[in-house]
Amino acid sequence: MFEYNQSAQEASSLLRVVLQELGKHGLSPTPVNYVLFYERALSRSPSFDRAFDAALESEEGLNEARARQLVDEFMLQGLMNELATAQDELKRILRGMMLQMLQTGNEFASYASSLGNYIRRLDTTSDSRFIRELTDEVIAETRGMQRSSVDTQQRFTQATQEVEKLRQELEEARREATTDALTGLPNRRAFGDFLTTMMDDALKNATKMVLIIGDIDHFKQINDNYGHLVGDKVLRFTARTLLSQVKGQDLVCRFGGEEFAVILPQTTYTGGMALAEKLRSRIAASRLKLAESGKDLGELTISLGVACIRHDDTPESLIRRADRALYQAKHEGRNRVVGEDDLS
Ligand code: GH3
Ligand code: MG
Ligand code: MG
Repeated sequence: MFEYNQSAQEASSLLRVVLQELGKHGLSPTPVNYVLFYERALSRSPSFDRAFDAALESEEGLNEARARQLVDEFMLQGLMNELATAQDELKRILRGMMLQMLQTGNEFASYASSLGNYIRRLDTTSDSRFIRELTDEVIAETRGMQRSSVDTQQRFTQATQEVEKLRQELEEARREATTDALTGLPNRRAFGDFLTTMMDDALKNATKMVLIIGDIDHFKQINDNYGHLVGDKVLRFTARTLLSQVKGQDLVCRFGGEEFAVILPQTTYTGGMALAEKLRSRIAASRLKLAESGKDLGELTISLGVACIRHDDTPESLIRRADRALYQAKHEGRNRVVGEDDLS
């Protein structure tokens, strides 16, 4: 995230600016809108400001999908920077440990050479007083060595604890940066990474792989009729339902607002079409009720587009074909699966 460390006074004067601006553009103060307008009011990132202004002035204005995209693109970038800082911190600790190792190594080497020295001197004398003095020296040096190795051990224990703590922080930041907060599914960024890796694998091993893109039908109506909170619940429900139908290495991601992507490694086109049909019928069979009134939400349906990897595919070209198939499914009446072979 960008950092927000404005004083209470600054924050409340920003609050007035943000509310004014929101009102001027006829937008409601949702958390997402608020954070975007707040960032714009701070005006500290030219690239964010440009992207934000462009969205605001575009034909469809700053709609919810675009607002979320901006958050993904700019606010998550901050998280990625945090990750980089943590990585630098880890390097610093490791470098410290390495220097300590080298120093300890030197101390051991000099101790060993003193011992060698004593042995040589013992070979050349039988004077008992001299032997006494020599053993005292050996004992003193050995004690010194012991102290320094206890010290080293303590420093190592401390460094290990620091590394462990950092590892947990990194893990948490990475999880946050790649997970969609609403559904818990991998987000668009993680989807891109997974798709690239899985396509590389499929192309290298000459195996098949399928991409399905699904988009909830008339989802806007759910928001309009029952409010965004119900809309959010429906998104979570859809995510759970899709997840329950896949197995093994199959991966369900949140692709966008009410769009989901399913990556099926080692799957043929026919297999992918069959799974997409299963997803469609599972969603269509669900009966959703409002928690308070028990009122029926009516039908929930999803349209899906299916594409199978080709030897010269890039992530973009594969996504484009699945997307075109999805578009055709919408065009043909929704609540259906269209595969790339059916593209007209
Ligand atoms: P179609 O059948 O053509 O797909 O129609 P649609 O209404 O589903 O599609 P449209 O693209 O017109 O509307 C999608 C809506 O999804 C608009 C947007 O407000 C809503 N949306 C996107 N993300 C979220 C979210 O996280 N929560 C909620 N509640 N709504 C969201
Ligand atoms: Mg959509
Ligand atoms: Mg839709």
